[in-house]
Amino acid sequence: MNDIRHISTDELTEFLVQEGEQKFRAKQVYEWLWKRGAGTFAEMTNLSAALRQKLAENFTFQHTEIAAKAVSTDGTQKFIFRLHDGAQVEGVLIPSGGRVTACISSQVGCALHCAFCATGTMGFIRNLHFSEIFDQFMLMDRQARFAYDQNITNIVYMGMGEPLLNYEQVMESVRRITSPAGPGLSPARITLSTVGIVNGIRRLADDGFKPEVAISLHCADELKRRARMPVTEHQPLSQLREALAYLHEKSGKRITIEYLMLKDWNDSVEDARKLFRFCTAFPVKINLIEYNATDSGFQPSPEANMQRFIDFLESKNMIVNVRHSRGKDIDAACGQLVRSANQRP
Ligand code: SF4
Repeated sequence: MNDIRHISTDELTEFLVQEGEQKFRAKQVYEWLWKRGAGTFAEMTNLSAALRQKLAENFTFQHTEIAAKAVSTDGTQKFIFRLHDGAQVEGVLIPSGGRVTACISSQVGCALHCAFCATGTMGFIRNLHFSEIFDQFMLMDRQARFAYDQNITNIVYMGMGEPLLNYEQVMESVRRITSPAGPGLSPARITLSTVGIVNGIRRLADDGFKPEVAISLHCADELKRRARMPVTEHQPLSQLREALAYLHEKSGKRITIEYLMLKDWNDSVEDARKLFRFCTAFPVKINLIEYNATDSGFQPSPEANMQRFIDFLESKNMIVNVRHSRGKDIDAACGQLVRSANQRP
């Protein structure tokens, strides 16, 4: 049997009409699925019992559930989601200054093996379906109302996985989350974070992608970056720069550059100079991210190095923000999301 969320609205309408129902029932079912986040047919109380029965006989629900939750002393919450096949991904809720940001995953594991990222050690297990990405949002939205008395205000595709290597499903999840017939979150409140998949960035530009785009650059020196981020061997900085200039040209967007500050690897003034040169082809905002030590062997950049780095960039009139990681005590901070081998399906 098909999962009801894997069929199109047209297919749903056709099924209902064939069953002798009126077309407007499709809208009601859609709302239950994509606005209210129903997980069972029994919840669809404005449908007749007979229709609910018919739906249950013809379709299934592939459930996503919260398998575990940890709450940080700073209010950040980390969730482990169990997917229908037993695979697990993680998501994080970050309350801050009137906002609640949800960090969501796009793949189970990740194939890209960035040296400073715990997720990369898992390897790639599978892509998430758009309904599984949507589920993370809906489940955390309920938790946000309960914990902080407010809905999720922002989403970052910055959890497990490389979103541009699961392009179709990620795009569909964005469409569902921003749809006025669904949760209706503004695209301006969504950020897709990529390690810099050149073809994917060009595709975003050509597809008129509305949300914000952040690049996990972390280093603007070709050889150093390639050594620690193996995928970049086929995504050289020159091509990435051109793709970002193209994205800016098509969308008018300011690009966010994410830069993990790692001691003695990418935190010298010379590194800042290279970063500045990389960023001259399009407007940027630079987020310097405090690193959380995992087993990677990297250490966080000392305060003095960080300040010299910031001073250089500011002397070039660049917009620089420092991001202090949240949820460190529960391994929810950037680069800490990982399911260990014995937790895999
Ligand atoms: S930083 Fe992102 S792309 Fe790199 S291994 Fe981690 S999840 Fe994958």
